[in-house]
This record gives sequence, structure tokens and C-alpha cells, in this order.
Amino acid sequence: MENHRDVVVIGAGAAGLSAALVLTRARANVLVVEDGTPRNAQAAHMHGFVSRDGVDPAEFLEIGRREVVGYGAEFVHARVVDARSHADGGFVVTLDSGVMMTTRAVLDATGLTDELPDIAGVRELWGSAVHHCPHCHGHEVADRNLVVIGGQAPAMTLHQAALLRRYSDRVTLCPHDMDIQENERGRLEAFGVRIKDGTVARLRGDQGRLIGIELVDGTMVECEAAFIAPQPRPNDAILHALGCATVPDTGWVAVEGPGATSVPGVWACGNVVNPRAQVITAAGEASAAAIAITSWLLETDIEAAVERADTSTPRGRS
Ligand SMILES: Cc1cc2nc3c(=O)[nH]c(=O)nc-3n(C[C@H](O)[C@H](O)[C@H](O)COP(=O)(O)OP(=O)(O)OC[C@H]3O[C@@H](n4cnc5c(N)ncnc54)[C@H](O)[C@@H]3O)c2cc1C
Repeated sequence: MENHRDVVVIGAGAAGLSAALVLTRARANVLVVEDGTPRNAQAAHMHGFVSRDGVDPAEFLEIGRREVVGYGAEFVHARVVDARSHADGGFVVTLDSGVMMTTRAVLDATGLTDELPDIAGVRELWGSAVHHCPHCHGHEVADRNLVVIGGQAPAMTLHQAALLRRYSDRVTLCPHDMDIQENERGRLEAFGVRIKDGTVARLRGDQGRLIGIELVDGTMVECEAAFIAPQPRPNDAILHALGCATVPDTGWVAVEGPGATSVPGVWACGNVVNPRAQVITAAGEASAAAIAITSWLLETDIEAAVERADTSTPRGRS
């Protein structure tokens, strides 16, 4: 493997692939490092990406990989374990294989990890009958018995419960261990959401299908799909190793404009810096970041050329 690059892209989900496509088409020398754990791997279908609605997420990524490789980017299946500024400029990126790469720029597109609630059955049905996003999967479960399970993100839970009423008139909110204010309860009930108090013990399934939510007192709430609000944890260890500043309120790495972090030469886009990014949003943010990186590489090339010209031209000569 050639070990100096214009850009090392970390992660080959929608964001990393989209950036790599724009960068290689702009003739940058790009390495994409990918460890093969995209966030939506457990979903059979991907929705909301115009022209690709309903495709298998793995097929979507495979098409993207083929396009990027076709323009000359190199892929390596590995995990980036460290990245540091290089004393001579640029960065050193270390893979779990021990290989070290030098690069002028780093684009981090490592996504996020959904921290699932510790309820029996959630992990097994995650992505098939347990969802987090009505925009991604609400249409597919429309007019069915739906349950929203409360948890670590009350605002998102309340929004999910209300939003799902657009899809079904049989929506039940099980607050589980979440406190729910009287006014919030009133708003939801007025809007037709049933509220069933009590702690959730487990999800009951049958041959991979969800059939209900069992509460600790033994009550069964029948449903065919459940929605939860997992805690999003950014996969941002590499950005921290590089010294990128964070947003004080959230602790997430701060970006300005199209993905520029506080460290010149380090960009980040997609879910690693934006938990709300859908596949199409992550791809769009990454495309904009790649164009910004191309301009940044160009500027540094022009500055270097001017410096070389200045030192090789005797003063006073035009
Ligand atoms: C179950 C589920 C279903 C979803 N369905 C939809 C849907 O239908 N429509 C929609 O628009 N959105 C959907 N989403 C959201 C979607 O998954 C994200 O919007 C999208 O994955 C964000 O893309 P990304 O490139 O930022 O991150 P990811 O797709 O997660 O890609 C990040 C990549 O970085 C790699 N990586 C991480 N760390 C390293 C490292 N250190 N070294 C090397 N590689 C690394 C990972 O292997 C991963 O492939 C769904 C999410 C879930 C959880």
C-alpha cells in the first residue's frame, strides 16, 4: 500500500463513500479505511433516499464502493486506531494492522453507535421490528398496532408517539422508566395516543416477529412494531485524538460550514457529528465537505507553488 495520501477517509458509510466519490473525481489520491460496521446494518431496507428507496443498505454501499473504486480510490478493510498531527505537516493515521499512513487531510465519517435500552428482546428485533425513526420505517408499519417505549431521551419519545399517530390510530406509549408530565400526557391522550404505565419486562416475539410487549406485572400490550429512542454515541475517538474542539453543551465534535473541525486539515461529516443525519443527509454533507477539502488542497498547492517560485526567482526580476 502506498503510504502517503492527499486524503484518508475513515468510514465507508453513506458519508465516507459520498466524500470519496467527489474527492477521487477531483483527482485526489484517496484511501478509504473501513471496518465494516455501518449503523443500519441490521435493517433489510433503506428508505427516504430518492432513487434508492427500499434497497438493501448493504447493496447501496456496494454500489457506492464500486463507483468510488472505479475512479481510482483505494479501499482497505481495517480499523483506524489512532491519528496524530505530523511534525512536518499533515497527519499520521495508524491502522489496527499496524500500518501507518501519512496524509495531507483526514475526513472522519465514522458514524455513531446506538446505545440500546437493556430490555430483553430489543437487541434481537432491532432493525426488523424495533425501530427508532418513523421517517425511515413508519410507512412500512402503517395502520398496525404500534408501541413506543420510553427511555433515555424523553423529548424524542414524546415526539415519536405523536408522529406515529400520522401512521396508525393504534399507538400506545409505554413510558417504562421515563417520567411523563401531566400536560404531556394530556396532549398525547387528546391526540389519540393510549398510555400504558408500568415497567417493560421484555419484548415477546415469534419466529422473528414481534407480537407484544410484556410489562413486569404480566400485562401484555399487543403490537407488531415498537419504537425506542436509543442514546446516540458518536464514534469520535479519532477526532479527539486529533485534538478537535467540541460543542460545550453536547460534547459532540464541533464543525463549521461543510464539516470543518477546529483542526485545519481535519473534516468530519455524517452521524459522527450530526446524530440527525439520514443516509441522504450524511451523503449530502459529505459531498459538501469533499468540495471544501478539494479547495483547501488546491489553496495549499498554490501557496507552495508561489513560495517555490519566490525562492527560485532572483529579487528584482519580473
Ligand atoms: C436500524 C436502522 C435503520 C435505519 N434506516 C434508515 C433508513 O431507512 N433511511 C435513512 O435515511 N436512514 C436510516 N438509518 C440511519 C442511517 O443508518 C444513518 O443515517 C447513516 O448510516 C449515516 O451514515 P454515516 O456514513 O454517517 O455512518 P455509517 O453508515 O454508520 O458509516 C460509518 C462507517 O464508519 C466505519 N467506522 C467506524 N469507526 C471506524 C474506524 N475507527 N476505522 C474504520 N472504519 C470505521 C463503520 O464501519 C461504518 O461503516 C437507520 C439507522 C438504523 C440504526
